[in-house]
Order: sequence, then C-alpha cells, then structure tokens
Amino acid sequence: MAGPTALVSALHEELAAVLGLMPDEQQQVFGGRSFWRGHLHGHDVVAVLSGIGKVAAATTATALIERFGVQRIVFTGVAGGLAPGVRVGDVVVARQFLQHDMDASPIFPRHEVPGYGRSTFDADTALTDELVRASEQVLRELPATLGLDVTKAFGLDAPRCHQGLLLSGDRFVSTTAESTTLRTVLPDALAVEMEGAAVAQVCHDYGVPLGVLRTISDRADDAAHVDFPHFLREVASRYSGAIVEALLRQK
Ligand code: SAH
Repeated sequence: MAGPTALVSALHEELAAVLGLMPDEQQQVFGGRSFWRGHLHGHDVVAVLSGIGKVAAATTATALIERFGVQRIVFTGVAGGLAPGVRVGDVVVARQFLQHDMDASPIFPRHEVPGYGRSTFDADTALTDELVRASEQVLRELPATLGLDVTKAFGLDAPRCHQGLLLSGDRFVSTTAESTTLRTVLPDALAVEMEGAAVAQVCHDYGVPLGVLRTISDRADDAAHVDFPHFLREVASRYSGAIVEALLRQK
C-alpha cells in the first residue's frame, strides 16, 4: 500500500491508547498539531489528535492528506446515542455522514452542503466492513475485562455494534429537547458527534477512503455530561485502542 494509514482521535485519552500501541513513534509538528509517525502491527501509520469540532477535524484531515500522503483515514471518538437502541457502551460505525447544523435554506435545502448538491457523504465500504469486523470482535471480548465497577457505573450490558448514519455539528448535544428534535428531523440518525461529517467532506474532495468508529458515551440528553472523563478513560479509549489494533491485525 502506498502512503501511511492515518489514525485520528478526537480526544487525548484515545490518542494515548493508540500511541501506546506504537513502538517507534516520531513527533512532527505541523499546522499547530503534533503528528506521530511510526508503525502499528507492521503498518506505516500517522496518529494525530484532531481536536474538537468540524474546522479542527477538517484541517487535520487536509494536513494528513497533503503533508503525509495518507492513503486512508480511520477516525475514532465518542458520540451521543440518538436512535432508541443505541446505548452507552455500544459502538457506532458510520456508513454515511451528515452535518446537522448545515442550513443554507432557503437558498439550498436544509442540510445540503452548498456546491455539492448533497447532504450526506459516504464512508468507504471496504474499510468500514473491516472496522465492523474489528468492532464486533472487540465487543465480544473486551467488555468482560472492564471490571464490574465500570460495567455497573455506566450500565453496560451486552454492547452492540451499529452501522448507519452519523450526525456531526459544532454543538455538544446535551439537552433532551435538542436530541428529541434531531431524532424527529433526522429519524435515521444513529448518533451525534462533532467531527465525522467534516472529515468525510474532505475525504470526498480528495478521494481518500474514510472509516469512522464512535463509542457511545452518552445519550445526548440532559444527563450527557455525567462522568465523561471517567468513561473516556475506562471504556472509550480501551475500545478504540483495541479496535484499531484488531483492524490493523486483519491484514
Ligand atoms: N469534556 C470533554 C469535551 C468533550 S466535547 C473534554 O473535556 O475534552 C465532545 C466530544 O465528544 C467531541 O469530540 C464530540 O465528537 C463527542 N461527543 C460525545 N457526545 C456528544 C454529544 N452528545 N454531542 C456532540 N458531541 C459529542
């Protein structure tokens, strides 16, 4: 394969999990970000923190493509569950992305990205299939190793892997009123976060395959802020580390 695989994390705890798997990473600072170049299971990789929000994520993706010539991007993070069966501790692997805060109406239909004639962008099918396989494998094994206190604290119960529409916007959705509105307006949405659809637009522009995986940290409701750092440390960063490792072990 030409070019490294990009491993992008939205939050520090997840990047730390990925860096922990790389034996030989070298730091390169570019565009105000630290890019970590090295290897993971024999794959040439670049790991980086995207930062939070669509602009930070789009800038990171562009730098990865322009500066490092990455041949695919794998993004991990957490998200708020929207669809009824998408619970804390589940994993969502995106098949499509939509910016829920994009609204240039009445000039363009609501959610349509001006100039593209579309409101959704697609994940790469083959990479996403691999991510689903890796996620299902990790969800079969990892939850049992988390410890009863963690399982109880977050009400984890037989975590599942979902595939479908992921929403992104520059808002942390943390009221029941807002998540109810999102569910009503976009009934197919599985979960909401703040970066995926921006990276998907950049990947569409450059023709770079993208796979995005999100661990559900909250239900995007009035309780969405509860124990976020604890969840990141104890659950989400372990999931993303293990899933990235399982993904890169596949070939
Ligand atoms: N408390 C965190 C900030 C998290 S911001 C900190 O101290 O750094 C939210 C991050 O989690 C973003 O990367 C976003 O993509 C994701 N996320 C998780 N739940 C979300 C929700 N309910 N709404 C929007 N983004 C969410």
